[in-house]
Amino acid sequence: MSELRVRFAPSPTGYLHIGGARTALFNYLLAKKEAGKFILRIEDTDVARSTQESVDAILDAMNWLGLSYDEGPFYQSDRFELYREKVQQLLTQGRAYRCYCSAEELDAKREKAKEKGLKPKYDGTCRNRTDQPDAPYVVRFKLPEAGEETTFVDRIKGSISFRHEELDDLIIQRTDGTPTYNLVVVIDDAEMEINLIIRGDDHINNTPRQILLYEALGYTIPEFAHVPMILGSDKKRLSKRHGATSVMAYQEMGYLPEAMVNYLIRLGWSSGDEEIFSMTDLIEKFSLENVGRSAGVFNPEKLNWLNSHYIKTGDPERLAELLNPFLTQKGIVVENGPNLVAVVKSLQERSVTLIEMAAGAAFYFADPVVYDEKAKKKFLQPEQKDLFKIILEKIGSCDSFNEEQLEVIFKEIMQITELKFGKIAQPLRVALTGGVPSPGIYQVLQVLGKERSLQRIEQAVRAIEQIAAE
Ligand code: GLU
Repeated sequence: MSELRVRFAPSPTGYLHIGGARTALFNYLLAKKEAGKFILRIEDTDVARSTQESVDAILDAMNWLGLSYDEGPFYQSDRFELYREKVQQLLTQGRAYRCYCSAEELDAKREKAKEKGLKPKYDGTCRNRTDQPDAPYVVRFKLPEAGEETTFVDRIKGSISFRHEELDDLIIQRTDGTPTYNLVVVIDDAEMEINLIIRGDDHINNTPRQILLYEALGYTIPEFAHVPMILGSDKKRLSKRHGATSVMAYQEMGYLPEAMVNYLIRLGWSSGDEEIFSMTDLIEKFSLENVGRSAGVFNPEKLNWLNSHYIKTGDPERLAELLNPFLTQKGIVVENGPNLVAVVKSLQERSVTLIEMAAGAAFYFADPVVYDEKAKKKFLQPEQKDLFKIILEKIGSCDSFNEEQLEVIFKEIMQITELKFGKIAQPLRVALTGGVPSPGIYQVLQVLGKERSLQRIEQAVRAIEQIAAE
């Protein structure tokens, strides 16, 4: 078989939707797996609704997910000349005709059909017209006569047939001279030698029209694979009611791209009961045969589960880089704090998202420490002053903050004070963190390091002295 050529063809009229990203991912994976080519085409023939901002949003999202393309991006708005030629070709061949029916006339016809209980459909008034009035017109594609049907074997859905009488003489060029989606998608897929079209199943109804256009234009018909929609938890089509539908909104919420990719693939594809897939696994394992025929259901808890998995197992250096902007957003100056990689390591087990990690990391950078009032009242009291003095002394004379050393120190403090571990760790934790949820005390001490830890304990002693003086 010739080289596999697939494409992703988004319309730049908004952000990259979860469903679009999944389609792009399926195409990307198959191209990689089969050593084929993945082409990106921006379908911006609807000039009024297409924006550069949206193109950028789509490119950013693909880049974030790691979906690199081999060719493109191609822009349909650069290709109007080609489309005009093809419309002319169809007119010359008698496969298309100019239709002068006005919007009002068409509305009236539609109403009439509805009254009669018929499916509204263009009645072919201008099909056999020979004059060319000086009036606005659209160009319609002449469908074959009723009684016939178009069938194709979808790689996911199986054999699908449409009777021609269900179809309309569709408009391929608008009154303003711009071509419509069904025409340009065929021209471009054919000219770009796409041989497998993987896209959302909302385009199934367009497929017979497109096949007829391929035939009329003398092009080879590609294969099709229509991917089921993604539904919300209530089994209705995924929409904003179910949460964010823009891929990049998930980046902003602190999700990792590898979690998103792993999540997207499981919305409609499976490999036994495995759940965790790296991009490399996917390139090896992905196939259209395991794409389900029914819709995937969006499940935010699963995304959280995957994200926390990838945070737990992620490379701390990389996570530190990804976390950095979230800290900056909170007004934290990372350079003034402890080593960021150490901060990350201490929080990997405890964070579902990078937003959570940033929130959990804030105390490391808060000098002086800001105390939680309740925690302060409970643990920074005059009777704790001696304890803090002992801690200060012991920590001050400790030369290394490794796990064993800290254990030795704590044992000594427990002996001197005759207090249980918790009675020491709790006030110390408030001194070091202000009283927010935090990793274990040894870890906090290690991340802060000796200097910062001592400063914070001294701050606690001063706070106690102030309370005593009040
Ligand atoms: N531009 C179309 C869309 O965004 C592409 C459809 C197709 O893949 O053929 O829905």
